[in-house]
Amino acid sequence: MNTFSLHNSKSMIEENIKNIITRIEQKAASVGRKSNEITLVAVSKLKPVEAIKEAFDFGIRDFGENRTPEFQQKAQLLSKEINWHFIGHLQTKKAKDVVPYASLIHSVDTLKLAGEINKRAKNINKIQNILLEIKTSYEETKTGLVNIDEIKEVLDFCKNAENLNVQGFMTMAPFTNNENEIRNSFKQLKNIFDKFNSEGYNLKHLSMGMTNDFELAIEEGATIVRIGTAIFGKRNYN
Ligand SMILES: *Cc1c(COP(=O)(O)O)cnc(C)c1O
Repeated sequence: MNTFSLHNSKSMIEENIKNIITRIEQKAASVGRKSNEITLVAVSKLKPVEAIKEAFDFGIRDFGENRTPEFQQKAQLLSKEINWHFIGHLQTKKAKDVVPYASLIHSVDTLKLAGEINKRAKNINKIQNILLEIKTSYEETKTGLVNIDEIKEVLDFCKNAENLNVQGFMTMAPFTNNENEIRNSFKQLKNIFDKFNSEGYNLKHLSMGMTNDFELAIEEGATIVRIGTAIFGKRNYN
């Protein structure tokens, strides 16, 4: 065995994880939060299973994927100890492929999708943890619920659905360098979260923050950050 190259290929992901964990701890401490109330989801989309195994060996247990076939394949192949997070847009007809493996689905954005997830979860005797995806930016490409009445309608449906456990909200900040715009997007999500919690909804998670903005997200109350590039390196979309 070539231990030298093994060590080398491992060290980048290890170094990156150490670095990110330190940054999460420092940021949390700087705003008086506990870092153990923040879950790091390593976003492994488009990365090989070897990369996931390396991160796993270094203690990461939460991984995020955004495409159904890739999510399903990796979940079937890899350790049952992994908590799989589905973070991409989910088509209603694909819910059946995701529910058996997902520890948390971050991207529920319609009543219809919530209904289908509930049905598929019931079929396999599972309570499916979900988040509602909220659109907090004006970008056309982003999906998610916008209107408060609509959010309430989906929340109420999920609360009453036997096989769903709705735990909070997810959002993606706009793609911009403007820190204020990004922060506003996170603040909006936190406001909606606080509003529903003040009405007794008992939500616990805010999934927000990626490689370029996770520290802002932690300042604004994120309990789950989804980080890909800073752990696994740039993705090749070709
Ligand atoms: C790809 C992706 C991420 C991770 O993005 P990075 O900038 O690579 O950290 C987080 N959330 C969602 C929904 C994604 O699709």
